[in-house]
Amino acid sequence: MFISIPCPECGNEIQQPADRCPHCGRPGYYWNVIAVKDAAERATLERRYQAAKKEASSRKADAVLQDFENALADSQAVIARSQSEVLRLANSHRQLYATYYQLIEAGVRLPEGDQWDVLRELADTVLFPGYKKEMRFAALSMDGVGLSNYGTCSIVFRDEMISHRASVFEENSALFMEKRKIKISRDTKLPKGFRATWDERAKLCVAKLSGKIDSATRPVEYSGLLLRQGATSEDDEFVEVHIWGPMTVLTMERVIVTSPKAHHRAIITKAIKAKLAKHNVKVN
Ligand SMILES: [Zn+2]
Repeated sequence: MFISIPCPECGNEIQQPADRCPHCGRPGYYWNVIAVKDAAERATLERRYQAAKKEASSRKADAVLQDFENALADSQAVIARSQSEVLRLANSHRQLYATYYQLIEAGVRLPEGDQWDVLRELADTVLFPGYKKEMRFAALSMDGVGLSNYGTCSIVFRDEMISHRASVFEENSALFMEKRKIKISRDTKLPKGFRATWDERAKLCVAKLSGKIDSATRPVEYSGLLLRQGATSEDDEFVEVHIWGPMTVLTMERVIVTSPKAHHRAIITKAIKAKLAKHNVKVN
């Protein structure tokens, strides 16, 4: 169901998915962020988080869990894409990173046409009612490496360019809907406590992953707990980042090339390095 909020400036109702007040025209509404700030959503996450900490404490894993939580403060949003897509974006800050729905609408691509497409579209409609075409999907990462099933170039985004418009979700949201058998109805109910604001992403990660942490877990293992590469994209384990709105090369902080073959890495890195340097984006 569509929610609405009062405009902080003119006081009139702004209904989802408007990204500006339809009455006074003042901009800046990110409905994915507004949705995760819901009081019941936050209270349920807080309960999960406290329960996770209590349980870890009973196993004497609380100090390590706290260290993991502190390390998550530096986690970043990463999108893995092909070299050609990164080259296209690196060409100019007038090149935009479009969403799947925008590309289909513009007639520049066709849907994959598989079962995955249907699931993705249903999940997005439930999770982002009226605004799915605004959402970009990233993964939360501690080492800057994204989900390699989507490409050999991991684009790491600048915190200050996304923190106000990003929210995080427990896992792959389409698989979440399927696993939990979310029923499609006029009043589809999503279980609460599985999403958070960017500032509270560590809380969500602690609630999700505390069971995998014990007193012997070492800091080098943290990034692998947060993001585990699967054999296929369906097997990837990660915290999904939802980012409202456009992105360009100026939204990027750095790009990490992860091709398994060293000479491929060298060729790709060389090709994109000079272009990205012009925009102050580093390549590793
Ligand atoms: Zn207004």
